[in-house]
Amino acid sequence: MRNLDDEGTYVCPSCWQEIVIPVDPSQGALQTYEEDCPVCCHPNLLTIELRPQSDIPDEADMDPEPRVRISAVAQ
Ligand SMILES: [Zn+2]
Repeated sequence: MRNLDDEGTYVCPSCWQEIVIPVDPSQGALQTYEEDCPVCCHPNLLTIELRPQSDIPDEADMDPEPRVRISAVAQ
């Protein structure tokens, strides 16, 4: 069983660097919190969406879409 649930990526709207952050699936399918960009230290409001496991077809071994989706808005 793959375990890809615990990290996601977003592009910082301030410095355009791709940031990888850990995601805790036990916190729910929709999470929002503010976090400082580790590159430029600009605070961003992150919205994290986790797709339910049942939405992923069994044949999706090629991983067409990330299970974790993160959007970032500069604060
Ligand atoms: Zn940044």
